[in-house]
Amino acid sequence: RWLDGDVALITGGANGLGRAIALRYLAEGARVAVLDRDAEQLAALVDAAGAHANRVLAVTGDVRSTKDLHAAVAGAVERFGKLDILVPNAGIWDYHRSLTRLTGEELAEAFDEVFAVNVKGYLLAVEAAWRELVATRGSIIMTLSNSSFHTNGGGPVYTASKHACLGLVREFAYELAPKVRVNGVACGGMRTQLRGPESLGLDERRIEASFARAEAAGERPHVPLYDASVEPEDFTGTYVLLASRRNSGNITGAVVPVDGGIAVRGFRTAAGGADL
Ligand code: NAD
Repeated sequence: RWLDGDVALITGGANGLGRAIALRYLAEGARVAVLDRDAEQLAALVDAAGAHANRVLAVTGDVRSTKDLHAAVAGAVERFGKLDILVPNAGIWDYHRSLTRLTGEELAEAFDEVFAVNVKGYLLAVEAAWRELVATRGSIIMTLSNSSFHTNGGGPVYTASKHACLGLVREFAYELAPKVRVNGVACGGMRTQLRGPESLGLDERRIEASFARAEAAGERPHVPLYDASVEPEDFTGTYVLLASRRNSGNITGAVVPVDGGIAVRGFRTAAGGADL
């Protein structure tokens, strides 16, 4: 087990990817605090942890609140004695709302909401946790996206927010070195409950419905590994690797794309060996 004895705090861990990371970290021997605004799903996570439930601390809160984030860090330290790993992960998507489909008012409101969750939420999480991470020579692993590098993974608001998070990985990797390593995982599309901004009336939409629609229409992702799993469990290995001091002690400021190979996508066909 790669994380035996470590303590992690994951934001947005009640659903989707964060939940999968929480369960994987437990299986790797870690104790895990989870901050999420979805109290019902937090309780379900503790149930799902089964025999490991005594190694889970569920904290209801909002990543836009520095008070809630400080309470989560303090709660983790009080319960488990320290903090080794922070995973800023809570996020919302803009459902591909392109510039030309938004009024100025909508754009202004969507920007404030998406940046508050996706960018300020990561900044404030690091602010709340860095002292404890310095004390343990711990690490931070941020959930980034294909939208941290490429177009069309969202609209301009989401794409800009995930590019901003790439900037946070780099800046914090510098500012917190040599004590704290800071890396990112740039995930591609995944079947989760990812929602949209309330300000655009998209807070009840879930990305899993978009996957279901695409599958029903026989569409497949335009990436070389187009038949790779899109289940969140299958994105968690890199989070274990980057958190492990033994295996990643010399890695900081790095971002691993876990996206089916977008950067080597072909010009005419996504995968060159489809007929092999
Ligand atoms: P999800 O909705 O299943 O999980 C996100 C969690 O964050 C939810 O439990 C939600 O309650 C929580 N959350 C949202 N806003 C919050 C707030 N203000 N305060 C506290 N908790 C809040 O979605 P997911 O797909 O697992 O998203 C996790 C991360 O993965 C996000 O950063 C997202 O941008 C990123 N990502 C997702 C995909 C994808 O296709 N699903 C692709 C690339 C990157």
